[in-house]
Amino acid sequence: MTNQDTSTQPIAGRSILIVGGGTAGWMTAALLAHGWAKHGFQITLLESDSIGTIGVGEGSTPKMRRFFERIGISEAEWMPQCNATYKCGIRFPDWSTAPGYTSYYHPFFSQSDDGPIRAFYQNASLRSRNVDVHAHPDDFFISNFLSNHRLAPLPDERSGYSCDYAYHFDASLIGDMLKRYSTARGVRHLIGTVNEVRVKDNGDLAGVTTPEHGALDADFFVDCTGFANLLIGKTLGVPFNSYKDILFNDSAVAMPTPLDSDGTIPSETLSKALKYGWVWKIPLTNRYGNGYVYSSDYIDKDAAERELRESIGMLDSPVEARHLKMRVGRVEKSWVRNCLAVGLSQGFIEPLEATALMIVQDTVETFMTRYEQGGFSERYRADFNEKVNLIFDGVKNYVFTHYKLNSRSDTDYWINARENTKLNTDLERIYYTWDHGGDLLAELRSQAARQVYSPTSWFCILAGMGRFHDKPKKPAKDLQVYQPAQMRKFCESMLGHFPDHAQALARMAQAA
Ligand SMILES: Cc1cc2nc3c(=O)[nH]c(=O)nc-3n(C[C@H](O)[C@H](O)[C@H](O)COP(=O)(O)OP(=O)(O)OC[C@H]3O[C@@H](n4cnc5c(N)ncnc54)[C@H](O)[C@@H]3O)c2cc1C
Repeated sequence: MTNQDTSTQPIAGRSILIVGGGTAGWMTAALLAHGWAKHGFQITLLESDSIGTIGVGEGSTPKMRRFFERIGISEAEWMPQCNATYKCGIRFPDWSTAPGYTSYYHPFFSQSDDGPIRAFYQNASLRSRNVDVHAHPDDFFISNFLSNHRLAPLPDERSGYSCDYAYHFDASLIGDMLKRYSTARGVRHLIGTVNEVRVKDNGDLAGVTTPEHGALDADFFVDCTGFANLLIGKTLGVPFNSYKDILFNDSAVAMPTPLDSDGTIPSETLSKALKYGWVWKIPLTNRYGNGYVYSSDYIDKDAAERELRESIGMLDSPVEARHLKMRVGRVEKSWVRNCLAVGLSQGFIEPLEATALMIVQDTVETFMTRYEQGGFSERYRADFNEKVNLIFDGVKNYVFTHYKLNSRSDTDYWINARENTKLNTDLERIYYTWDHGGDLLAELRSQAARQVYSPTSWFCILAGMGRFHDKPKKPAKDLQVYQPAQMRKFCESMLGHFPDHAQALARMAQAA
């Protein structure tokens, strides 16, 4: 048996087998079909009809806009089909108990927000140096005001303003739509359950076997089998790095609720802390999705379901809840030999910042770029794996910061999360710089190659959760300070340029 790795050869014109038809599988198929079908690749997607998809995943980051732009599908085309709504940001109530900071909003922003961002940096930096100025991010960002008024992030031309935003959607419907898109562009779709994965003498994957289709061989494989982790983990034995010591949550329970009776639809995700985790509330055009993400080390599934039901007013409702387990962490390498892992098979960070599909997109796009730059040499593969791992670890650091900065003391869960000392150097330096009134912007710039989140997001979380010293001193008279009333006035003056969210969606659906 030789151990020579043949997957360093270019695969143009050869066959790619995607195993798994969840959102990750169909996003991969769509990106490959759009970018590579013209090069003569034969792309097949195989999915099981007896092993379901995870079926949750309703929030996204602004990156999702770039996904649809890239494959050439307009909002008017896909959003009504997927019950999608606009998302201006995420609101985090009850994570902090600091007076005046019991809720904050993580906004999406664009270049149009440069002025307010500078004002916010100025005030937040002063407050971190113990100067008594207003530093709550909610007063500085238009997106927070849009959410508060249930407006869509679609400014009219007169405003001269451009918004960034993301979406909420039904993940199963996105999968269905991308299936139609991909098969129309030549992707072969097979239904079958893999019962054997065959490996070549050199260690590369040779093919899979299903009762329905017998042996299916390919030159390259994409593992989109979700938490089953069939190719990259179970077959190729790539180790899994768990994040459980940093991110405690390993379970979720989800259930829908009806939309509000007044016909309005929020344009934000609500991520409210509960006793042993947090609950999401995501508006679609036909319902809310709700789910409690918690740690089974602290609460059992029945008690978690009860707490969820209580928090969303569904205690006596006959609507069934769905329980899910989560494997939080990432594989050591997402691309090994002739196999690329995408989606839950590659790793998962709990959905607090709704980043999973962003990582799917990043993974496939980076993979395609590396190939187009020069094939599958080991150098490109190593470079790819390093980049993908940095994305995972960067998201982990930011998500963990919500827990580290919490100031709740109602349960051991929150106390242990806050007292967790398993910080890496980057995080230690960020917290130290902030706590000692140092130059956080300079620190973040020095970490730029490893950061996924922008400085604005870091300032928002540190200031928004009220991580400040007590008893701040009065500002000196000549200090430049921005007054909250002034910032609020500016944001409010912009609201007339934005349409009502529910009405904008209804108009889009009608036009479609
Ligand atoms: C509680 C929770 C909340 C989430 N919220 C968000 C969110 O807000 N935003 C976000 O971006 N993401 C979110 N996610 C993640 C998101 O759901 C997933 O990243 C996304 O759905 C992609 O899943 P997947 O396609 O990798 O896996 P799955 O959906 O599990 O699909 C796996 C596929 O593999 C197939 N398969 C498995 N074994 C075999 C076999 N032996 N033979 C053939 N086929 C096989 C299955 O049939 C299925 O088609 C959330 C996840 C959880 C658990």
